[in-house]
Formats: sequence, C-alpha cells, structure tokens
Amino acid sequence: MMGSELKLSRFVHAFDIEDSLALFHSFRVDTVFLPKESRDLLDRLRLGVSPTEARKMFGTKSTKTLTDKYFLVDSSYDEIAELQKCVRKDVSGTYFHTMYLLLAEPCNLDCGYCFFQDEMPVRKTGDRIMKESTAKNALDLFSTWAEKKQPATIILYGGDPLINMRTLKFAISYTDQLVSEGKLHADTVVSIVCNGTLINEDFVEFLKSFGRRVSLGISLDGPRHIHDFWRKDKKKRGSYDRAIAGYTLAKEGGLSPSISCTLAPNNLPEIDAITDWLIEMEPAGMSFNLLADTSKLHMDAKYAEDATNAMIRAFKRLSV
Ligand code: SF4
Repeated sequence: MMGSELKLSRFVHAFDIEDSLALFHSFRVDTVFLPKESRDLLDRLRLGVSPTEARKMFGTKSTKTLTDKYFLVDSSYDEIAELQKCVRKDVSGTYFHTMYLLLAEPCNLDCGYCFFQDEMPVRKTGDRIMKESTAKNALDLFSTWAEKKQPATIILYGGDPLINMRTLKFAISYTDQLVSEGKLHADTVVSIVCNGTLINEDFVEFLKSFGRRVSLGISLDGPRHIHDFWRKDKKKRGSYDRAIAGYTLAKEGGLSPSISCTLAPNNLPEIDAITDWLIEMEPAGMSFNLLADTSKLHMDAKYAEDATNAMIRAFKRLSV
C-alpha cells in the first residue's frame, strides 16, 4: 500500500477533543487519535505527501497505524471503487434481524413530545390495533427473511403495545414457537417498549414464563418533576406514580426491566439528577432517547449538541 504518494482518505473527518485530534473514518468506522497540533498538517495530507514526509510528520509508528487503518491511502487507491465493492457484497448478503410490530396506535398517555401520536393521520388518530392474524403473517414472513445464524429481535411497540394485550401475548408465544421449530435463531428476543402504566400481575406472570426470550423496557424520564413535565395522561395528570408502580411490579415479580429515558431540552441541565435517579432505580439496562421534531416542537443543532454532551456526562458516571 505504501506507494509513491500518500493522501488523507476522503472518508476521514477531524474533531478536536480536549488535547487531542480525533480522526474518524466514516467508511471503515474507525478512530485514530493524534496530538492536537496535527490539525495543521491535514491540508497538506489532503494534497498528498511522500511516505518519507508522512513519517517525518507523524513518526514511523503513527504513520504505520494511519496507513494500516486506511486513514492515509496511496494516491492511486480508488476509495469509491472499494466502497462500491463493499456495498455490492453487503447488499447481496442482506438479511433482516430486527422487526418492529406496532401493536396499537392508541396510547393511554398524551406525552407532550410524542412523535408517534403527532404523526397519526388526522382521521385515523389512535384507533387501529393489530390483529393476531396480521402479527402471524408478519412473523411468518420475517422468519423466512431473517438470518438463521444470527439472533433476531422483534420489538413490540405502539402507542402503548399493552393496550393490545391479546396480540402482544400472541406475538410472544408465536415467536417462541418459531424458535422451537428452528425457524428463528434460538437466542431470538422479543423486546417490549411500553410506558409502564398498564403493567399488571397477569402480564408479569406471562412474561416470566418466557424467561430471557422477552425483555421489557419502560419509558421513565427521571425523578417525578422531570418525568411528569412531559409524560402526562389525557387529563394532564403526570404519569410518574403509575409508571413507577408498573416498573416496581415487574421488578418484584422477577422480571429485569430496563429504562428508556427521553432527554427533552429542558431536562438537560438536570442530567446529574437524572443520573442519580437512574443509579437508584437499578434497572437491568438503560438507554437515552433524543427527541424528534413534531408539529409542536423543533429540535435544533444546539439541542443535539447539548443532549450529546449530557449523555456523555451521564455515561461517564454510569459506566464506572
Ligand atoms: S407513552 Fe409513548 S406512545 Fe404514548 S403518548 Fe407517550 S410517547 Fe407517545
């Protein structure tokens, strides 16, 4: 690969991170860190330098890392042709591993940031639920397309999927059947994402009988005052107590619920309080969600940046 001239890959993006320069390769999905002063060298690298010059600029070891990882490429190397080759190879081997089943349009809550309810067609808002026969057709089709050597994930979503308990139970039982028949990978998981307020003992007992086949995620945004600001019911009452009751019931009933925490712009300054609360709640796992634009809310670039910084701050505490 070390030919007469090296140039910076067209896929490399540079970011200043504290005292370092982070180079991210968007095609190889890889990162290399260099001293911050290296930024001044990037323009020269884009034009092309000899391998000797590159070694003078970065030292032998870093130059080898940069070339081994395709951050520096021979100027005759056709990166677009390589990309096209990979796309052709991957597209021909495409398989499905995740399927969402939107079991119910309706939701018993009316969260202020809900993009799902916001996007319902006006005349159809919240009135459709999925029949068992539709779920069966979808799962049958999915099992023919899914890669049998890889675990699949079926996500039961809504509205609130627990509103359609009949099809929810069917989808879980039928997935289990497809697994036992060898039509889906043995480690296939059904993942339920709900608001927690409709969880009852019968539901917990049902899920327990499927063990690790089913995972349960509950939307909780933090302590009561944070959660209730956006997550209200149709009578404008906060849903915190009911969501926590569902979370507690699931936990005490032997399930391992995780928490799905949405970061609204007004909650970002409270990220430390949210993190303290998450630690206290001891979920099996957690994820942060960012808001999407709705007809009432516009999320700008500043929100994306602030939310990312808040997540990094929380991650540093949660990962110790
Ligand atoms: S619980 Fe979920 S689906 Fe229901 S209103 Fe809130 S965000 Fe929307």
